[in-house]
Amino acid sequence: MRHADSRELTPRGQRVHGPLIITYHYIRENAASGPPALSPTDFRRQLDLLLERYQIWPLSHIATMVAEGGFLPADVCALTFDDGLNEHYTVAYPELLQRGISGTFFPSSGPLLDGVLLDVHQIQQVVAAASVAQINERLRDLLERHAQKELLSALRRAHANSTETSRFDEPNLRFLKRALQRDLPNGLRQEVVHALYAEFVGVPERTMSAELYATLPQLRQMVRGGMEIGGHGSSHPWMTALTRAELEREFVESRRLLGEVYGSGAVPRNAVFCYPYGDHDLAVEREARRHGFAAGVSTEHGRVAAGARPFAIPRVDTTHVLEFISGEL
Ligand SMILES: [Zn+2]
Repeated sequence: MRHADSRELTPRGQRVHGPLIITYHYIRENAASGPPALSPTDFRRQLDLLLERYQIWPLSHIATMVAEGGFLPADVCALTFDDGLNEHYTVAYPELLQRGISGTFFPSSGPLLDGVLLDVHQIQQVVAAASVAQINERLRDLLERHAQKELLSALRRAHANSTETSRFDEPNLRFLKRALQRDLPNGLRQEVVHALYAEFVGVPERTMSAELYATLPQLRQMVRGGMEIGGHGSSHPWMTALTRAELEREFVESRRLLGEVYGSGAVPRNAVFCYPYGDHDLAVEREARRHGFAAGVSTEHGRVAAGARPFAIPRVDTTHVLEFISGEL
């Protein structure tokens, strides 16, 4: 999916105004062997800066205003936390509580209901532990063993012709991540990811899963403390690449998790869905609505401008927040 131009100018060159929805992932000290993270100190600093300039609202309030098509204030911001990470409970939640503000958390259901370590995190750990060249070499060996030697070069040719971009990764890394997250055939893809994870990381997946994610009791406690929990799929797939049946399962399991967190029958009607990797199209949006979600947030970059669609609400990653606060964007 094409990302909006980062300067956020309308065709007439006016700046776009509207609420700011911020995306957080890892909030921890950066470790040499781990994926890039926002340090807890920088997180606290960012919260305090935001509080000086914005009213911080629960995301569902902004989503409701978008759905109603009304006026969207520019001095409002919402905080969203993807993937149900452990530090969202241990680090983010206490900071939000202390400041009397709410955040919206998007755990995938697979880790909580089935104890799995999501592909996305296996791949992040592999990429943090080995170089692109090392991973490519092993990947070639693994595919050769499955008599799929030509597959990688075919994918590389397809990727070279694609207009897909990434705000964060250089092209070789982006190609590798897309191949492992989405482009290799299902079944083989999972097998290859598990094999690379076992070789380059080696921590048993169940152990890593138990360390990486917040637990159900923790999420329930966060709800009692005024936080919102939304859907983020079950296995964290690229949703536009799924079959109908697979897509159905992702939403059914997301709802099942929300039932476990809120108590079935108590899942809020304004629950929001967060598309894994921000990947969505009209068919995915329709399914999100059909499964009882009131809105959908993506990774399209920018403020929530007038006319935004409730199932395609843009966000801004924490790494770009300072540019917005300083008025550059
Ligand atoms: Zn995610």
